[in-house]
Order: sequence, then C-alpha cells, then structure tokens
Amino acid sequence: MSPLPQWLADLAQSLGPAGLWIPGVNADEAQMQPHLVDWRQRYVGRALAMARPANTEQVAHVVRACAAQGVCIVPQGGNTSLVGGSVPDGSGQQLLLNLQRMQSIRHIDADNFSLTAEAGCTLAAVQNAAASAGLLFPLSLASEGSCTLGGNLATNAGGTQVLRYGTARELCLGLEAVTPQGNVWHGLSSLRKDNTGYALKDLLIGSEGTLGIITAASVKLYPQPKGQACALVACTSLNQSVKLLSQARHALNAGLVAFEVMGGLSLQLLMRHVPQAGAALSPLLDPSNHAPPPWVILLENTSTSSHEQAQAQLQQWLTSALSEGLADNAVLANNQAQQQAMWHLRESIPTAERLAGRMAKHDIAVPTSAVAQFVGACSTALGQQWPQAQVVCFGHLGDGNLHYNVQPPTSMPTTDFDAFEQAVNAVVFDHVKQLAGTLSAEHGIGALRAAEMAQRKDPTALAMMHAIKQALDPQGLMNPGRVLQVSGS
Ligand SMILES: Cc1cc2nc3c(=O)[nH]c(=O)nc-3n(C[C@H](O)[C@H](O)[C@H](O)COP(=O)(O)OP(=O)(O)OC[C@H]3O[C@@H](n4cnc5c(N)ncnc54)[C@H](O)[C@@H]3O)c2cc1C
Repeated sequence: MSPLPQWLADLAQSLGPAGLWIPGVNADEAQMQPHLVDWRQRYVGRALAMARPANTEQVAHVVRACAAQGVCIVPQGGNTSLVGGSVPDGSGQQLLLNLQRMQSIRHIDADNFSLTAEAGCTLAAVQNAAASAGLLFPLSLASEGSCTLGGNLATNAGGTQVLRYGTARELCLGLEAVTPQGNVWHGLSSLRKDNTGYALKDLLIGSEGTLGIITAASVKLYPQPKGQACALVACTSLNQSVKLLSQARHALNAGLVAFEVMGGLSLQLLMRHVPQAGAALSPLLDPSNHAPPPWVILLENTSTSSHEQAQAQLQQWLTSALSEGLADNAVLANNQAQQQAMWHLRESIPTAERLAGRMAKHDIAVPTSAVAQFVGACSTALGQQWPQAQVVCFGHLGDGNLHYNVQPPTSMPTTDFDAFEQAVNAVVFDHVKQLAGTLSAEHGIGALRAAEMAQRKDPTALAMMHAIKQALDPQGLMNPGRVLQVSGS
C-alpha cells in the first residue's frame, strides 16, 4: 500500500480518528460502504477519505486543505439523494465530507418563530426540537429520519406540505456556509426582511454542494395546528382531481396543508407488494373485483382551534364535493391511528415500486392546471411506442409535482432497460417542456439529470449558472459532475 500523503496525514492529526476515516487505514469497507452507494444503488464510488468534521471551523480546515491540494470534495448529509448527488465517483481521488457529526440545535427563538441548527441534524430532529418548543417546522419528507437539514437546503427539498408552507428555500432565513476557498460565511440571519444586496443564501440553496458547504441554517417555525383531519377521496379522472384541488383551496384555504395523488396502478402495486399498508384503502375498493379507483387523493386539513373543527370543516366540504360530482367516494379518518394509516399508504408507494422492479423514474412538475393534459398526452405517446409499458403515477398534486414512472414491458430483456429508459425520458421531458414544466421538481439534478439539464435548460440560464460556478469555485472542486456539466467532469 502506498504511503499516506503528508497533507492527509496532517489532516488526520488535526481532526482526530473520529474526524477522518481513511479506507484501509482507520476505516474498513463495512464502515465506508453505506457512504459510497446511493439510495437507489445506481451509483457506487470510492473515496480518498471521508472527513467527519465536528464543527464549522473543522469544515473550513478540511476545505482549505483540499483547495491547497486541488482535491475535489463531495458533501454528504444523510445520503438519501434520489439523483446520485452525494457519493464520490469511482476514481478514489475525491474526498467525501460528511456532516452527520454536526448535530447541535444551536438556538430556538420562540418569539421570532425561528430555529438555528447545524447542517447534520436530521430533519426529524429539527421537527422534534421545534415541537418541544410548542412550534412546527413543517418540512416533511418520507426520508426525514435519515436526511439532514444541510441536505434539505442543498437540494431545496419539497415533500408533502409545500402547498401550505413552501419548499426548504421558503423556510430558510439564513445560512452559515464554508466557501470553496475555506472561508466561513456568517449568514445566520433570522430576519424576515433584509435587502442588503444579493440573496447569497438563495445561491447556496438548491446548489447541491457545488458552490459551498452549508454548516448551519436558521429556519422559520410556525404555530402548531391544534387539530388535523385526513381523508381519502376517490376520483375517476385527473381532471376531476384538479377541480377538486381548486375547490379545496377555496374552501379550506390555509387549513389545507397536503393534497397528494395516487394513481390506480401505484395502488395496485402497493396492494400486491406491501399489502398491510393498503388497509386504509379498503372502503374505496370496487366491491365486485377489489380494484382501487383510477385516482385517489389524500388530503389533510388543519385547524388553529381544534381537532373537531378540522374534522367538521373537512366533512362539510367533502359532502358538498360529493354532491357536486367532484368526487366519486370518500373516507374520513376518525382518529389519529386512521390518519397515520392513510399517510402510511401514501408513503409506502415508493417501497412497493422498488419491489416491483426497475422503472424509468421522473420527478416532474407542470402547472397544476396542466397536470391532466400532461398525463393524458404523455401516457398516450408512451403507449403508442410501448403498448405493454405501464405508467405508475403518484405525487404532490397540490404542487403540480408528479412522480411519473414507467414500468417496461415484462417481456423486455434486462439488457434493454437502459435504452428504454433513455427513450422514455425523451418522451416525458418533451411533454414536460411543451407544458412549461420542469424535469426536476424536488429531487434536484445530481449526476442523474446533469446531461438532460445541459440539453434542455434555457441557454442563457445555463450561461449564468456557469458564470456563478466559475466565480465562486474557479478550481471546480465542489461536487464536480453534479448539476452542471463542466468539461472534464
Ligand atoms: C424514501 C425517500 C423519500 C423522499 N422523499 C422526498 C420528498 O418528498 N421530497 C424531496 O424533495 N425529496 C425527497 N427525497 C430525496 C432526499 O431525501 C432529499 O433530497 C433530501 O433533501 C436529501 O438530504 P440528505 O441529507 O440525505 O442529502 P444527501 O443525499 O446526502 O445529499 C444531497 C445533495 O446535497 C449535497 N449536500 C448534502 N449536505 C450538504 C451540505 N451540508 N452542504 C452542501 N451540500 C450538501 C450533496 O452533495 C448532494 O448533492 C426522498 C428520498 C427518499 C430516500
């Protein structure tokens, strides 16, 4: 084995054994492996070492050392990226910088409705800290037990409550970050208004580790709702579902926090592969053949007064929606256990999909008014080319954001999947473009969509992004190959 380069030995000494894992020196394969494979197991890499800094000064120290050596850095939070953003490439020359040791909740200012926490806190830990102060941090994702606040901001995460509270960007008040040169930017403002020049935090949010490393953030908190009510609603068509959404927004207004959609095929997969999670669906199944309805909506209404009020408002609205023909059938959760079962149903769909085998997956958004048109036209085009392919569609209808996934024909040999996926992507993204949508709504670009974004994004926007990257990271050391395709990456 070749001797450890002096700069890495110096770094190991200054960070201590817990602060720098060097494969084959003080870290074995079993320790490193979970950090080298992405969640979907599409990307497997190797790392020169994995830094695990305990504080912001250590992050800055690591970055300065890498900048001096020209070593590329891949920031990593909970490694739940769905676009291959958080694992190193196969060269073994990149340094993985994992933030998970930075887990302190630094401050909660209840009167300012704000919280300041370090980047490595899990999203669930931030939610819990807010709850312990009687407040709400509303970002909510199925990965919340593993993903980190830093990763949420680096990807501008969305999730199930964007309709009411916005994405991670809208929830962020200030950031502390380390620049690619290793300087600390102290931007931890907790102000709602600050018009002193460029919005630097907005450059870092959604930059997926390509412009700097987020070490801490101040975020907005909200009053805890006093009551929640959930319902599952059966619809015949997406057109009907979108009208239902419109009506729900008018009637329930700020009480409406989530409006999720699940297509019939996604529910069939759920019933087949995760049957225990399908229990909440029983009242909506066709009694003759137990088939799920073509579309099912999961919506949540909240009240600032009481559970009874949330329930009564939802019931009243559902009754009128059913009588106006905006929905075919509905079931209201009567208690917290039933509410949890409804959410479990929705959150188990990705698991059911994974068990169902490979699919060409997409995280797209179009204006909500165009969702039905998108699904109709795109599914028809796919059906003409691959009559046996099936579309598994679910997502955050309230945001116009669909997980629109295409299952190849069962007869297709595995070796043909990559070509199928590429061809399907082209059809899907062409339809997205025609309706002024986006090829990545909430998961980001990572490595998975970098080539497609380079081809499809407005050239002026791309040129501005490259100029920003060049200005902030002229050596190109921060998460190369992610978001922007730079020559050589
Ligand atoms: C089951 C499941 C459900 C999910 N549901 C949703 C959903 O509903 N909505 C949604 O938006 N996403 C969802 N995701 C995707 C994922 O959880 C989010 O993108 C999340 O924000 C990533 O956080 P993380 O800490 O795991 O980041 P990682 O996966 O570790 O990293 C993601 C990206 O951010 C960069 N990064 C991480 N930390 C930092 C930092 N401190 N500073 C700078 N860059 C950093 C990485 O380099 C990488 O490019 C889901 C994932 C899973 C597995």
